[in-house]
Amino acid sequence: ATPMSVMVGVGKAAEAGVLIRNGQALQTASKITAMILDKTGTITEGAPKVTEIKTIGGADEAEVLRLAATLEQGSEHPLAQSIVESAKDRGLNLGSTDSFNAIAGHGVEGNVEGRAILFGNEKLMRDRQIAIDAHLEPAQAMAARAQTPMYLAADNQLLALIAVADPIKQDSVDAIRRLQKDGIRVVMLTGDNRDTAKAVAEQVGIKEVFAEVLPEDKSDKVAELQKQGEIVGMTGDGINDAPALALADVGFAIGTGTDVAIESADVTLMRGSLHGLADAIAVSRATLRNIR
Ligand code: ADP
Ligand code: MG
Repeated sequence: ATPMSVMVGVGKAAEAGVLIRNGQALQTASKITAMILDKTGTITEGAPKVTEIKTIGGADEAEVLRLAATLEQGSEHPLAQSIVESAKDRGLNLGSTDSFNAIAGHGVEGNVEGRAILFGNEKLMRDRQIAIDAHLEPAQAMAARAQTPMYLAADNQLLALIAVADPIKQDSVDAIRRLQKDGIRVVMLTGDNRDTAKAVAEQVGIKEVFAEVLPEDKSDKVAELQKQGEIVGMTGDGINDAPALALADVGFAIGTGTDVAIESADVTLMRGSLHGLADAIAVSRATLRNIR
């Protein structure tokens, strides 16, 4: 495409709220054969809410939420915010934490009022040898309903399962269908557990899922598809997504996402809607079709 037609294309895309940082990205977008979509904050709102608390061994529901929220005050993860918010909504007084530690892709740990508290996913509990096998079934049931189950342990004893749900953006289903109609292979990528990821994927019509991917491994999935010969688009909002956005043939950041994601991407979807993806690809294809 001529520099002039690329400029026109970039301008057209901008009218649709799609900011394309360079002409090369506009041209490559038309060649995308596979699109990787992060789940949380990209396909979903990224604003999870506590939906269910299942206490174990007679633990008190308000107390387990208070412990989890006290610990999560130290984390910036969207899941942490949902726990803290839920505790505050119930008027619970949060305590303070010693030796707080966030374990990327797993959860959080620390001392609350002299107790060693651990809060996070199944992997975290297994790593720390917490006995959870008797409680997998309710966790799986939560996941099958597209919720993310988290385990709370105090002094190596399991106290509760807390589930959160993150609503799917209202237009994600349509936007994903548009990409698929354009002949693009759509794949979901998430650190969340496999069952939750599959349930969400099913709701939005995605058949391929990379789940339980650690933050540092997300870019490997981009490389994996590139090795298969795909021209890969990657769409994400989080700090976790930045290396994958940078490695992708075209990186798309959600405009409401983190600065790091936006800086690592070639394109920013200002409206946060995934329709921006098919819009960008349409403008790109039109640009290359009209003037070569
Ligand atoms: P994603 O952003 O794709 O959901 P992450 O890699 O950030 O993935 O997290 C993966 C999983 O690790 C989460 O689904 C959750 O189970 C667990 N986890 C991560 N951070 C926290 C946290 N602050 N509190 C509880 N669980 C967490
Ligand atoms: Mg995300």
